[in-house]
Amino acid sequence: MTKDEWVEVCGAALETAGIDNFHPLEICDVGREARGTALFAPRAHLIPNAIKLCRVLCDLRVAVRPTPVLVNSWYRGTVYNYKIGGVGKSMHLTCGAADVVKPGFTPDEVADMLENHPDSDQFGIGRYNTFTHIDIRGMIGRVAPARW
Ligand SMILES: [Zn+2]
Repeated sequence: MTKDEWVEVCGAALETAGIDNFHPLEICDVGREARGTALFAPRAHLIPNAIKLCRVLCDLRVAVRPTPVLVNSWYRGTVYNYKIGGVGKSMHLTCGAADVVKPGFTPDEVADMLENHPDSDQFGIGRYNTFTHIDIRGMIGRVAPARW
């Protein structure tokens, strides 16, 4: 899928799902050079995973007080994932994981907000120094929960 095709296909899916806080290029900035490789669009069958994660991130957006959720990294193709040393079964390969920052809150505080989400037993939550990893593994048939 080209960048334009991705924006059109994913954008239509987001619109149908009523999600207007996230743009397809936040899920994958198709064509951007990163670590010596161009980023490729996710396969279309992964879009429903992105939408499930969007709903969680929309809940995170309004948790405690409404604040935009900034996405450091969402979808990763296999080549890019390999180049950054990502694990082989990374949830980022499924479109169902994102590394996020909620300005004004520490990564630990963001992780705690996600722990308080009603679906938290379906999540993978990773606490890092500068961001929080969230994925929806239990919603797509993977073993859940996971914490690190
Ligand atoms: Zn991650």
